[in-house]
Amino acid sequence: MSHYHPDEILLLNYAAGNLSAAEALIVSVHLATCHQCRTYVRQAHLLGGVLFEKITPAANDQSETVDAFIASLPERKNAAIEQDSSVENGFKNPLNQYLPRDLQTLAWKKQTSTISKFDLSHLTGEKGANVVLQKISAGARVPHHTHKGTEYTMILKGGFSDELGVYHQGDFITRDAKHRHSPTALQNEDCICLAVLNAPIRLTGWMRVLNPFLS
Ligand SMILES: [Zn+2]
Repeated sequence: MSHYHPDEILLLNYAAGNLSAAEALIVSVHLATCHQCRTYVRQAHLLGGVLFEKITPAANDQSETVDAFIASLPERKNAAIEQDSSVENGFKNPLNQYLPRDLQTLAWKKQTSTISKFDLSHLTGEKGANVVLQKISAGARVPHHTHKGTEYTMILKGGFSDELGVYHQGDFITRDAKHRHSPTALQNEDCICLAVLNAPIRLTGWMRVLNPFLS
């Protein structure tokens, strides 16, 4: 069950086909497990045609129309959430065709004794966008860092906590330059996440000496 989701603007841009390939990939992975967001995207598709017809060249009219459009979409928060398998009406997890069922068997590249990554950036081929799987050993902590751009994280297995909350499998987390955080994997199992970064993370505190080595 997901408790944290992409925000409405991200889902609307997904529905409209306005996201980068990397952003669309990670939103698709979330949609494959989140009935609530699938419903939202489906509604946006249906209502998008109506919006398109109503938009006029006048900017004020357009923003009012967009506000009305967003207000007409179903309320996602507090709605009943259902988690199911990866296929429903065409919403498939796009990573399934590239990755083994058991993610532990991947050729992980160790970054520290407790943090590993598996680069998937080649899947989108977009310059400046990092698409990686990250594995944090159970109970291990990622050094404090902030971001130059936006980082989207989708938890595939296990969970982690940071200064802002506790997150579990299926959750979608957005962090940007406003956030300085230090995720710690939950104690019971390794945490595996899909992460999309449109700019490298920046370590803070004494670990910043490592910044030149990050990519
Ligand atoms: Zn969702």
